[in-house]
Amino acid sequence: MTPQGDANGTVFEVRQARVRAALELAGIDAVLLSVGADLPYLTGYEAMPLERLTILVLPRDGEAVLVVPELEAPRVPDHGACTIVPWSETVDPIGIVAGLAAGATTIAIGDLTWTRFTLALQAALPDASFSPANAVTGPLRAVKDADEIAALRAAAHAVDAVAVEMRARPFGGRTEADVSREFVDRMLEHGHQRTNFAIVGSGPNGASPHHDASDRVIRDGDVIVCDFGATMHGYCSDTTRMFVVGDPSDEIADTYAALADAQELAVRAATVGTPCEEVDAVARRALEPHGLAGAFIHRIGHGIGLEAHEDPYIVAGNSQPLVAGHAFSIEPGVYFPGRFGMRLEDIVVATDAGPDRLNRSPRDLAVVG
Ligand code: ZN
Ligand code: ZN
Ligand code: ZN
Repeated sequence: MTPQGDANGTVFEVRQARVRAALELAGIDAVLLSVGADLPYLTGYEAMPLERLTILVLPRDGEAVLVVPELEAPRVPDHGACTIVPWSETVDPIGIVAGLAAGATTIAIGDLTWTRFTLALQAALPDASFSPANAVTGPLRAVKDADEIAALRAAAHAVDAVAVEMRARPFGGRTEADVSREFVDRMLEHGHQRTNFAIVGSGPNGASPHHDASDRVIRDGDVIVCDFGATMHGYCSDTTRMFVVGDPSDEIADTYAALADAQELAVRAATVGTPCEEVDAVARRALEPHGLAGAFIHRIGHGIGLEAHEDPYIVAGNSQPLVAGHAFSIEPGVYFPGRFGMRLEDIVVATDAGPDRLNRSPRDLAVVG
């Protein structure tokens, strides 16, 4: 994972300075970051999810030090944004980290840090209180800069190309798993380095929002939820398009029209200053007169960036206003257990000129063979 940015590390130094300022405000002495997206966001390096510890120690005052297994050190980009301290196989890395963080009484630790390391660090630093680092890093990562938006746009266009290609492909007679593999292959062909998911939920399976593609054979008349996403140069794509085998029934066509209207209204509502929860509520109010609000069983969206799901969450209870640079999904869905489900998803960036929808593939219900 290599976030877009200057090869000389300037972008990482700027981000580290923002974290230090946030630590100052929060009264936190140091942040410790291991696996997860915070580390690549601040250093360009992604920790291997290993029993060998990798941790960035970023004190509020003082230099950033990356403690890394000696054998992984050659993979760390050398741009000067942090000092690298490799540890050899027989050394205790917890002791090194505890030494670097000595004196810190309030420590923020990366949310995805393995529990075994967190517990060992707490034992080694008995005077420190620990809190989740996402409270500091989440709001910073949620606001994308121009390079990050360009990376999200490129990833979005790649899945758009896949969506367009799949409109010309047969679905009937194939298993969900077979169609899902085709989505995966095409996402890689279009420039993603790794795929994250390719949900294919046909007929009644579509009523389970995160259905795993199964051996069910897709039949005539089936409505199919296809929700697929991958990672390109560190940044994620995520889109949902709907397919139907043969001409849709009136019920299917009407339900989809109502869902597409609700999605469109929510996208238009996603302006700077609008509370996240209001964007969610707009779609629910649009579905209500169609009797569909009760079938919309999840939040309308999530932030997206280095992670497929991150701040801000577009959900009832989140009164935080959208700010320019927030990137998030707008994905209302309606689900009818035992029958079918539908979802429509685009990635949107809030800008001072209004909502910028990154996905551009056709949003109509695609009739396939
Ligand atoms: Zn999801
Ligand atoms: Zn999705
Ligand atoms: Zn999504």
